[in-house]
Amino acid sequence: MGKVYLVGAGPGAPDLLTLRAARLLAGADVVFYDALVHPQTVALAVKARRVLVGKRAGRLSTEQRFINRALVEAGLRHHTVVRLKGGDPMLFGRAQEEIDALRTAGVECEVVPGVTAALTAAASIKTSLTRRGVARSVTFATPRVAPGAEDSDWIDAATNADTAILYMAASNAAQVTTALLAAGRAPDTPVVVVENASLPDERQLRTTLRSLPDIAHQSLTGPTLVCIGAVFATPAEASANSIAPNAFGTQAAS
Ligand code: SAH
Repeated sequence: MGKVYLVGAGPGAPDLLTLRAARLLAGADVVFYDALVHPQTVALAVKARRVLVGKRAGRLSTEQRFINRALVEAGLRHHTVVRLKGGDPMLFGRAQEEIDALRTAGVECEVVPGVTAALTAAASIKTSLTRRGVARSVTFATPRVAPGAEDSDWIDAATNADTAILYMAASNAAQVTTALLAAGRAPDTPVVVVENASLPDERQLRTTLRSLPDIAHQSLTGPTLVCIGAVFATPAEASANSIAPNAFGTQAAS
């Protein structure tokens, strides 16, 4: 009996991978990987059987139940099994279902963190998600709900945190704007939409909460984050609105 490693592949660029992940991939017997994982990352598993198991919204994907079962069976049969997931495994990746299935079957499992998309987008746009005097709280949320689930529970989180990073939200931009404006978020709150963060075809679109639905005209096809909050104001906007004394390293006038 072996061990199953849930491994974060990072957001896209293959060199945003931990050394631990690279070492495990090199020694893996089987790798189950998501569609968003870069081919060069999968290729690090030189001796493994490599199995694509999904998932992009709206496209054919392997059912979660099947993935859980496949992981258990591989863990019972092979020494080193890697479940390679985009970004960090513990955010919006259904990792808990896989961990629970392995635990129930008595298969040993370990999690290796990865760089999540939100922190990659922050790096790309060179904007700290927290900032003295401007933002002390950050929320990672998604408006995407499972069929039949309550669709309002993300709104409070995204309204009350200073900085909100929304995963799987770009295709629901109009719904996001309507919900957050109704909940009291200011219409001129700065927003940056980041597509394909860390990849050569990355795009950054600056807008406001009010105008966010206009991104529907941008034909976003890659994975996309919606980043909302005062920290995303350009330095010029921030000083014009004087939202953030000292926030950009300038001395406050006294
Ligand atoms: N576990 C992953 C998230 C999986 S959910 C992580 O930690 O990053 C998939 C969503 O993540 C996408 O719909 C998109 O919102 C976001 N995402 C993943 N990779 C991205 C990238 N390179 N650029 C922008 N958003 C990305």
